[in-house]
Amino acid sequence: MNIQDSKSLQALLDTKPVITIIPHTSPDGDAIGSSLGLYHFLRNQGHDVQVITPTDFPDFLKWVPAAQDILIYPNEERKVEQRIANSTLIFTLDFNNLLRAKPLTPLLEQSGADFVMIDHHQQPDTYAKITYSDDKASSTCELIYKTIVSLSSVEAINYEIATCLYTGIMTDTGGFRYSLTSAETHRIVATLLEKGADCTKISSQVLDSYSIDRLLLLGHVLNDLTYLEQYRTAYMYISSKTLKQFNFRKGDTEGFVNYGLRIKEAELAAIFIENEEDKLIKISFRSKTNLDVNLLARTYFNGGGHINAAGGSSHISLEDTLKYFLEVLPKFLSLPNAYQSMPTI
Ligand code: 5GP
Ligand code: MN
Repeated sequence: MNIQDSKSLQALLDTKPVITIIPHTSPDGDAIGSSLGLYHFLRNQGHDVQVITPTDFPDFLKWVPAAQDILIYPNEERKVEQRIANSTLIFTLDFNNLLRAKPLTPLLEQSGADFVMIDHHQQPDTYAKITYSDDKASSTCELIYKTIVSLSSVEAINYEIATCLYTGIMTDTGGFRYSLTSAETHRIVATLLEKGADCTKISSQVLDSYSIDRLLLLGHVLNDLTYLEQYRTAYMYISSKTLKQFNFRKGDTEGFVNYGLRIKEAELAAIFIENEEDKLIKISFRSKTNLDVNLLARTYFNGGGHINAAGGSSHISLEDTLKYFLEVLPKFLSLPNAYQSMPTI
């Protein structure tokens, strides 16, 4: 965060605002970690602050310090509506377009609060009074770390904050493997470990916490994986019937898409998941090298994200979505800008 933004943010905080922190819908480790990391910091500074999630989040994140203080919109609609209406300062974290906060989007659009966006996705929207956006950052948690240090100092990072931020950096870098994992990421993580973040415990609680149903669902999905050698693309799909068969719980399919990239030659992996409740197909894309799946998601699937991790959705049937994907895949791969020049870190 630059000095000007840091001063402007401090000036907003000096007015003792009613603060709400909102991550994106279907929050992941970075969304929950950044929201709760900022929550602990602001609370320690004596602020009135509440985290609200637009939808529920997976059990493997429910242990993150203060996760039980979060208001989950579908579970507490009235409380959430009142809180947003009363808020004078709203932080939106780990997303950059209010449509990514569905079903809270209309409540946020109607709000008279000042907005602060802290995020690392490409092409940020312009709704916020202060926008701290850095698409070279590994995670929003990394940006929250820098925000805390610029508003206060490293001394303000305690065990709870360190645990929250470590969780988000670990998950958003795929365990410190993705291309935006920088020397600076590791320096920040080193500080978080010094502040008491327990890397063994955190990774075990997030990663080694499958139910038997979840593991068997993974087996079922992998069994049907298709690899298109010609396009170096692996794709998987899950019907709502399969989800029911394996007693699906929120978060169960998290990370499945990455298995497609385990194939040595694969450059692109996709997963298509039928969501009966929202009547859509949720799609995740991952890539190796500099193949820009953000472009794929944006151009053909009403989505977005990053070069190597993006997502979107489709409102036709699962079968037709797969057909459409196979149709647009060669078109996408032959776009002149399908392969991006990678950012230098
Ligand atoms: P995931 O595949 O894990 O759901 O998401 C991967 C990345 O793509 C995340 O950074 C997420 O924010 C972004 N993303 C996923 N779905 C959508 C979508 O429907 N719209 C947009 N704009 N971004 C998405
Ligand atoms: Mn993130």
